[in-house]
Amino acid sequence: MPRARRRGKWAALASLAAIAVGAALEPWAQPAGDPPLELVRSWTLIDAESAVGGGGAPTHRMRLEMAVLAGSGWDPATILAATRAAAGILAQCGIRTDRAELYEFEGPARYRWLDTPVSRELARRTRLARPAVYFVAGTRHVPAFDAEAFGRANSARRPELAYSVWIVAGARDLPVALAHELVHVLADSGEHSDAPGNLMRDETAPDAVVLTPAQCRHVLEGGVRNALLQPLAR
Ligand SMILES: [Zn+2]
Repeated sequence: MPRARRRGKWAALASLAAIAVGAALEPWAQPAGDPPLELVRSWTLIDAESAVGGGGAPTHRMRLEMAVLAGSGWDPATILAATRAAAGILAQCGIRTDRAELYEFEGPARYRWLDTPVSRELARRTRLARPAVYFVAGTRHVPAFDAEAFGRANSARRPELAYSVWIVAGARDLPVALAHELVHVLADSGEHSDAPGNLMRDETAPDAVVLTPAQCRHVLEGGVRNALLQPLAR
């Protein structure tokens, strides 16, 4: 499937009623013959941004939960390195990614692809806290984007996906893509920027990582409003 040139897609969602917290697997009535969905490994990054050393004094903290499906073509080490780099990019807004968890799941092969009905089911079963990131093999959506981010406004039909980012294997500029999509989710906005070097350009580039003070304000305000960021005690 040809990959769309655009960086990613923003999809907004309305209802949050169904969002659960915690990574425990939900008991689920499985189709007969369906392999179980199992947590096989996990990794934890503490103060993920500190390895990169970006930003000034942090004012807010973020906890990230991420899932990768075994057999989807992702190397966990690549994901963890990209997470550190993305956290370093977001640090310019005063965000400390004080904990990032990556969970590797084994389960039905259909979960390896972004496909709204199937991915809703995966999100329901994995119950990651928000913001959440899912690393998948590819996408069945047309056009096929490297990454999609789901917000709140606009659709009550897939609340399980609210405040989640989905990234396909082989996505370009992975750390930048991850930071870009997280900004969409935190700010709850699909807005892009034409400014040179800006992180929110429609097309990502490895050196386009800057956020303006106004963009940071939207990220922090939206993140706090939607309980995706917590202000740090002063
Ligand atoms: Zn975007």
